[in-house]
Amino acid sequence: MINLETPKKFRPLVGQAHQVAMNLLRPNSRKYDILEHEYPKELDMLAAMIDGLSESGQASGAGASGVRRSEEDTAAAKTARSEEAAGTRNGSNLASVLSIMEMCWGDVGLLLSMPRQGLGNSAIASVADDEQAERFKGVWAGMAITEPGCGSDSANIATTARLDGDEYVIDGEKIFVTAGDRCDAVVVWATLDKSLGRAAIKSFVVPKGTPGMTVERLEHKLGIKSSDTATIRFEGCRVPRENLLGNPEVDVKQGFAGAMATFDNTRPLVAAMAVGCARASLELTRELLEEAGVVVDYDRPAQTQSAAAATFLQLESDWEAAYLLTLQAAWMADNRKPNSLEASMAKAKAGRVGSDVTLRCVELAGSLGYSEHELLEKWARDSKILDIFEGTQQIQQLIVARRLLGKTSAELK
Ligand SMILES: Cc1cc2nc3c(=O)[nH]c(=O)nc-3n(C[C@H](O)[C@H](O)[C@H](O)COP(=O)(O)OP(=O)(O)OC[C@H]3O[C@@H](n4cnc5c(N)ncnc54)[C@H](O)[C@@H]3O)c2cc1C
Repeated sequence: MINLETPKKFRPLVGQAHQVAMNLLRPNSRKYDILEHEYPKELDMLAAMIDGLSESGQASGAGASGVRRSEEDTAAAKTARSEEAAGTRNGSNLASVLSIMEMCWGDVGLLLSMPRQGLGNSAIASVADDEQAERFKGVWAGMAITEPGCGSDSANIATTARLDGDEYVIDGEKIFVTAGDRCDAVVVWATLDKSLGRAAIKSFVVPKGTPGMTVERLEHKLGIKSSDTATIRFEGCRVPRENLLGNPEVDVKQGFAGAMATFDNTRPLVAAMAVGCARASLELTRELLEEAGVVVDYDRPAQTQSAAAATFLQLESDWEAAYLLTLQAAWMADNRKPNSLEASMAKAKAGRVGSDVTLRCVELAGSLGYSEHELLEKWARDSKILDIFEGTQQIQQLIVARRLLGKTSAELK
């Protein structure tokens, strides 16, 4: 039997995340949508609370930093191992997607602004060795891949990292760095030698304040306005060689696999953001439809109901498919099953469903949906980015097609 209830051990975490979303994120949602670029100071208290839970070992999966594949001898890891021995395991990946769904039911932009829960933290958690994990503990890390000349095709990265003595010297420009202004450090993707292709791309932790690193400007955006999105320039920026994450060797046979492995963990997280935000839209739309006298009947075929009810049912079923794919991708990571295909499927489906659902909910609610009386219009704006960053819809579909057809990136572009 498939049991899709939230695992018992995660219910308190999901409940807490929901309380935070309801009592802290939602009430501040409109405020920071209007006050673009202003720091949401209310999040400091929340971050301190999560830090406290982390110290006590109770915060597994409370945010992006919960994603780590090789776990140490913590109590949580021991429980996980006994579950694994019993044939299944619900670990930090599943906990993270479940709590992120709840938080994004509250507000996506504010979730992306949570101190110490950046996408760079996921990268560190995924690939750092034990010494680095300890050294970068408590650091809020953004992730800098995109450049003026490289977006979807991350193999085209032009930022360079040159080894000089015991330091790497980084030069280049990174754009659209989420939390790039507010974070403490940025995980920068740079090439050690452009002539060696993708295999030479490595990631480096660059702490803020390092000479040669400058935040140049912040973007104005359609949605997630509470999240800062920065352009950062690196000019002769030196970091210790120990700040390279993962293996410094350039293994041409392994190609891009090492760097790309981070995405197997982060794509389900972004899918979870889309799922959470879309659920918020569906719930509010259901209430508004009920107030308008539209009854959604689950016991009758959709085509026998009103157009609004039938549309709502279709949106809900699409949402459920995205939800299940997201859980599957995270669960596979927890169970150490290769999940690149499923992570891309989840991201592709949830990204598209998130945009579709939130926009159709605006439509169903009519002028009420379009106005600022409700958050429906904001959720439609916030959702779009979830279909773009961490690999666009089209790129996810390309990855899925390559994997299913057994084609290389050179064969299918
Ligand atoms: C608000 C925001 C926050 C962001 N945060 C970060 C961050 O924290 N770190 C970071 O590194 N980046 C970040 N990004 C950048 C984001 O990841 C890129 O925008 C994304 O990867 C797409 O790259 P691009 O914008 O250059 O589009 P392009 O790659 O130029 O693509 C343009 C269009 O062409 C399509 N396309 C491209 N190649 C193909 C193909 N082979 N087949 C079919 N269609 C294709 C794309 O899907 C897209 O629709 C952020 C962007 C935004 C807007």
